[in-house]
Amino acid sequence: MQQVKKRLKRIKERVKEAALKAGRNPEDIKVVAVSKTHSLDKIKQVSQAGIISFGESRVQELRDKYETMPHLDWHMIGHLQRNKVKYLARMKNCKLIHSVDSLRLAKKIEDRAQKADRQMNVLIQVNIAKDKNKYGLAPEKINDFLTKVATLDYLQVKGLMTLVPYVDDPEEVRPYFRELRELFTEIKARQISGIKMKELSMGMTNDFEIAIEEGATIVRIGRGIFGARDYK
Ligand SMILES: *Cc1c(COP(=O)(O)O)cnc(C)c1O
Repeated sequence: MQQVKKRLKRIKERVKEAALKAGRNPEDIKVVAVSKTHSLDKIKQVSQAGIISFGESRVQELRDKYETMPHLDWHMIGHLQRNKVKYLARMKNCKLIHSVDSLRLAKKIEDRAQKADRQMNVLIQVNIAKDKNKYGLAPEKINDFLTKVATLDYLQVKGLMTLVPYVDDPEEVRPYFRELRELFTEIKARQISGIKMKELSMGMTNDFEIAIEEGATIVRIGRGIFGARDYK
């Protein structure tokens, strides 16, 4: 078996185990394979092994890959500059932007989505750990932000995303995942018109099992599927 297939099989088993441990249905958890820096060949192998969704963190790299593989579902997971939104709006299968973190960006997405006459699905990136090196809205700013984006017609909020600090023992980040899930549940309970709380994107190779135990519906896994990245 190819290496990526072996790795993917193991990841799927671990997703299932974590879900069952938490009393959840494994089918409620989507694995997004984070393919940044990896070749089209490897992406093809992973897609043939049954993964539909791929995540990229840079628009230019996403554009290049999309050109060859527009049939896959693509997720933009990295920081997004407003002047790049137009490229995403043109990609029909750019299914979810995980990294909306400002009102100016949200308005740009609304504008480009309207021009492309399509809906664009987004998650709000929350800097739950208040990490100075990470993007994302501060948790206390979410409510005000939601009121403003709820009125947008083409941008659709589908949930929340977070990136937590990398630590050796993933148990250390469990409180962050829990906090984000609590925020997610709170917002969901308010049933704000125009805002959906369906997806909770949290957890990467290092900590996805903990994230699943705390309620993640999307885990973003790079190294665990593709192996180490080479940034050359
Ligand atoms: C690179 C990246 C991931 C995947 O990280 P791995 O440690 O390789 O699983 C997940 N989310 C975001 C936002 C990333 O940039």
